[in-house]
Amino acid sequence: MASCDKHYHPALWEDTIENIAKKADKYPLREIESIGLTIKELDQIKTLNHLKYEKLVFVMLCHAKLHNTLFPDNHGWVNATIPEIYRTARVTVKYRKDKFLYLNDIEATGLISFSTRNDNLNLRVNFIDMEGTPVFEISDFRELGYEYLNYYKKGKFARCTECQKLYVRKTNNQKYCELCARSKKMASDRARMEKLRKKSNSEITESP
Ligand SMILES: [Zn+2]
Repeated sequence: MASCDKHYHPALWEDTIENIAKKADKYPLREIESIGLTIKELDQIKTLNHLKYEKLVFVMLCHAKLHNTLFPDNHGWVNATIPEIYRTARVTVKYRKDKFLYLNDIEATGLISFSTRNDNLNLRVNFIDMEGTPVFEISDFRELGYEYLNYYKKGKFARCTECQKLYVRKTNNQKYCELCARSKKMASDRARMEKLRKKSNSEITESP
């Protein structure tokens, strides 16, 4: 808490934290290292034969399979919002309404179905294979669209040496994703400025 919030005051938070800690052992800790996708599932996605649709369905499959693993009575429901699905699939649309047109196209293939509950559009994946042997393991949900492309060797990707996120590699000596590269640069700029400041301070004190 203290490292995240500089106004953190232990006394103000004690009750809240105690309460959370007390309830914690009521639920088993759910930690899943990765989810495995089977050839049957990947083949189903391939039948779409349209890269944007394939990436979208791939993201939905990953979320649905994760949720199925956590909750055996989930039956393929996707636990992610539509903006989240598009963002992590790295699928962009020209017009907002296209997002729903794409989903309608995919639904027409039977691979997914919809249900509207409380005004929310819920998506369900209909081709989950919980029995087959996994051929593709997913342990990082941040860049699922890139993971899909990387699996089929489409495009140049690398894993960030700092945060392990998959990113589009632009040069051969690139080591970090965009975000880590930026924070690394900021840190080194700050260190350089600090050094300069110290140097000019000592010059001032040293001068007669
Ligand atoms: Zn990174």
